[in-house]
Amino acid sequence: MSEFDLIRRYFTRPTPNTNLGVGDDAALMTVSPGMELAVSTDMLVGGTHFYLDTDPRQLGHKTLAVNLSDLAAMGAQPRWATLSLSLPQAHDDWLLAFSEGFFALADAHGVELVGGDTTRGPLNLSVTIMGEVPQGQALRRSGAQVGDDIWVSGVLGEAALGLAQLQDRVQLPEGARQTCLAALQQPQPRVELGLALRGLAHSAIDISDGLLADLKHILDSSDVAAEVRYDRLPKCAYFATSGAGMDMLAQDCVLSGGDGYELCFTAPLARRVEIMALADPLHLPLTRIGQIVSGQGCKLRAADGSVIRIEKEGYDHFA
Ligand code: ADP
Ligand code: MG
Repeated sequence: MSEFDLIRRYFTRPTPNTNLGVGDDAALMTVSPGMELAVSTDMLVGGTHFYLDTDPRQLGHKTLAVNLSDLAAMGAQPRWATLSLSLPQAHDDWLLAFSEGFFALADAHGVELVGGDTTRGPLNLSVTIMGEVPQGQALRRSGAQVGDDIWVSGVLGEAALGLAQLQDRVQLPEGARQTCLAALQQPQPRVELGLALRGLAHSAIDISDGLLADLKHILDSSDVAAEVRYDRLPKCAYFATSGAGMDMLAQDCVLSGGDGYELCFTAPLARRVEIMALADPLHLPLTRIGQIVSGQGCKLRAADGSVIRIEKEGYDHFA
């Protein structure tokens, strides 16, 4: 199969909302009037971000999902994507499953694949996603204000627990195993939540590197500090029900576990009711976990007000 057959067979689909899609030297798109173009790139490296034997359909989903998550965190509506693939070999079964996983999620969000690059090499998957957000309404990391509530969507720790299971660091019961592996391998980007938070939230970020590490980005960009209550964090069901002996793993997964793709955002107290009202229609828990205060850094407190020491903040490829 030639490179061009491969692109035509697996990565060329109709693109009605694009002026010119796959097949020329560049794609052409028109940004809607009054909108800003939001652009983000995320790369998944085989052996670093995922095991090489990962199910290709799930990999296709995740490659796009991690990018959609970045647009969700900006409050942007996803529109277009490009896909750059480095592949050790071209196996039809693998490519078919990968592209089906990719396009199923793309279709669910109205995203059109408009181009990319395909080359032979170590397995490496990179997407550049493009979306639209009304001028001036993007949710930035730098907008948090003293007095804001800090919120997170969903539950924390599932993906990290799924990874611990794959690495045999924990033996989960069947139900929890399925939930946690799905969270790791088929994360659901919170696009609808990001859109709904326009005009409500002051700042937002997606939790791809762990709650504390990503919250810290908001704090640094906004030049504020945070008080977070450990007992209020929405922990995944396994930690909520498993008792003693799990404390370290729970803390690690909930506070520092990567690959979660929930949103962490801040909003003024006056918006609490409107934000709570989003949870039901989105079928997504939204939890207030703390407060933005003045100063620097993040203080984690137990229910009795005592300060909890933070061992490790999150994942850093170069630390
Ligand atoms: P060029 O040599 O001009 O860079 P390529 O041969 O790399 O063009 O790609 C040909 C066309 O196929 C281009 O429109 C490019 O955007 C598209 N393309 C290449 N790889 C992919 C891919 N993996 N997914 C989608 N489109 C792709
Ligand atoms: Mg090229």
